[in-house]
Amino acid sequence: MSNWLISGGTILTSDDAGTIIDNGYILIAENKIVAVGSGQPEISDVYQEIDATGMLVCPGFINAHTHLCMILGRSLGSDRTLLHWLSEAQIPLMQAFEPEDYAVSMELGAIENLKAGNTTICEVFFTPHYSDGVDEIAVNSLDKTGIRSILFRCTNDENFFDGFLETRSESVRRSEHLICHCQTSRTRVGVGPLVPWSSSPQAFEDAVQISQTKNVPLHLHTSETPEYNDLVRKRTGKSNVEMLADVGALGEQVMLNHCVHLSDSDIELIAETNTHVIHDPTSNMILASGVAPIPQLRAKNINIGLACDGPACNNTQDMIQTMKDAALLHKVVTRQPDILIAKDVFRMATRGGAKAIGMGDSLGAIQPGFLADLILIDTQVPHMTPLHDPIAILVYSARGSDVHTVMVDGEIVMQNRQILTVDEKEVLAKARERAKKACDRSQDRRKS
Ligand SMILES: [Zn+2]
Repeated sequence: MSNWLISGGTILTSDDAGTIIDNGYILIAENKIVAVGSGQPEISDVYQEIDATGMLVCPGFINAHTHLCMILGRSLGSDRTLLHWLSEAQIPLMQAFEPEDYAVSMELGAIENLKAGNTTICEVFFTPHYSDGVDEIAVNSLDKTGIRSILFRCTNDENFFDGFLETRSESVRRSEHLICHCQTSRTRVGVGPLVPWSSSPQAFEDAVQISQTKNVPLHLHTSETPEYNDLVRKRTGKSNVEMLADVGALGEQVMLNHCVHLSDSDIELIAETNTHVIHDPTSNMILASGVAPIPQLRAKNINIGLACDGPACNNTQDMIQTMKDAALLHKVVTRQPDILIAKDVFRMATRGGAKAIGMGDSLGAIQPGFLADLILIDTQVPHMTPLHDPIAILVYSARGSDVHTVMVDGEIVMQNRQILTVDEKEVLAKARERAKKACDRSQDRRKS
């Protein structure tokens, strides 16, 4: 592992004060940032240099909720609401997957995320193939790409689609195995029932127990659509968030994803328990799910991370687009231009996500002691010229494809848009082939 000096760029540190340094430098030793300043540092050790002139340098984005396990279904069944999109298009395809599909899905998804500047992802994994050990395949494939990830091993013990059910004891045994045997410094494992209408209260309690005893985060889809809330109320007589409170599934180790349809008392429960919320504005728009009450959650000091959601529903993994969508969505529905500003969404995409995954003190900012997960964005392009306000340029003008160089854990994983860890061309070709074959098998199953 090398020591690096990155200099000449504009550093958007995302530190507590939101410091921006023009013509700044960053020194990296092993996998940590050791110094940040302006101009050129005096150094005695040997550093490899990266010239960041004309670039923005910022912490890698944390895509706090995705489903790379569904990537082979990208664009399939568009223009439907969540439950129709799942039952009519995506689930039949997933039922036709083979264990080998998961390796290429994870590699393709990680490449796409890295190329958009997302250095950390929360993969909310689910599959009808847990008995084939595909969770281990997925974790190992993610690790190979060099991305930082938490794979949340999600499951259901009742009322879900054919083939997707796992008994409670299987789920506990396999989750514990994955946590004990497959984690690396970059690739971690978390847990969570997949959706609240298809898991028993005891399955939630199992997940809470694993989260607490193994010290891993818990990730839960929550209150995504009104139909979703109706299903939970029919089963439990409670709101989704009240149900979670009852089974002990709120707290600092818990990430609630979506939270679109919340009551005032739901918001109180989330705030009181210091539970984290993940906002997926693009997904909520594309599936016509609704508008999450982000300004109200922020007013209660609830920590919020940002996410693209899966590539099958959002269609992309571009966190820069997601930042822009978040800011624009809340401006238009409130008609207040300052309700969520560029600085706010940048913070959600960096510090907010890091805090949500329990790494608020080591990830998501460019400051000494933090992990060296950072990206360089080339601003020498027409759509970022001239550049008066670097944060506004990043959020409102840049695109994921402007990301030039990506470092994760002190290692360069993309340089000048070339992925260095896996063979991108080969992965894309394999993904096309495997998606086609899965589609064919799915059609055959429907006919038979
Ligand atoms: Zn999801």
